Amino acid sequence: MNVVSQLYQLQEVDLALESNEQALSQIASQLGESQAVVSAQAELTLEHQCLEELRRRQHSAEWEIDDLSSKISTAEEKLYSGRIGNPKELASLQHEVEELRARRDQLEDRALAIIEQVELATANVATKSNKLKDLEAEWRRQQQQLSADMEQHKTILSGLNHKRQLLSAQIAPQPVEFYHELKKQKGTAVAKVEQGICRGCRILLPTTELQRARGGNLVQCGSCGRILFLA
Ligand SMILES: [Zn+2]
Repeated sequence: MNVVSQLYQLQEVDLALESNEQALSQIASQLGESQAVVSAQAELTLEHQCLEELRRRQHSAEWEIDDLSSKISTAEEKLYSGRIGNPKELASLQHEVEELRARRDQLEDRALAIIEQVELATANVATKSNKLKDLEAEWRRQQQQLSADMEQHKTILSGLNHKRQLLSAQIAPQPVEFYHELKKQKGTAVAKVEQGICRGCRILLPTTELQRARGGNLVQCGSCGRILFLA
């Protein structure tokens, strides 16, 4: 194999190394916390807080209703005990019972409305909790896939690095150095020649340059300076 073919192979390995390294850093950036999971957790926490507050209000309304009920019982017991003979006192007690009952009715309506809200919030918590579970499962699956991909790229990279070492060792130091210099200047050091055209700069090459390149000599494109490679 002539030196140009070897340099072209080296370039192929370098390109593969670069693309694998890019893929690896892309994967690394995707590893870690998921924004979707974090916001779903925050939403669920809020919904939980809302439900707790509603339950607190429900219990407090229920306690108040119990309290009123026992007050009503006591007043009614007194009212129907026959112990009160004074009509004015009886009327006032009757009025008191009516007021207590009205207050209890109001509270019962309010408690019912709160219970409806509790049911709604309970359903919301269940929905959001399921959504979070799905997102977490999806995130775990993604992370596992990313870790597997990462391992795969690392294996490929180590294979490529090994191949690169072997290739470099086969080429004389001077062309390798020249290759690196050109690569630094132009991004790609070796340009393929197709139908007499340098693929590096898309210029039609003179016949003399082509002939010299065809012989396997290290020839630079007269236009872009890249090493010409004829497959
Ligand atoms: Zn060129």
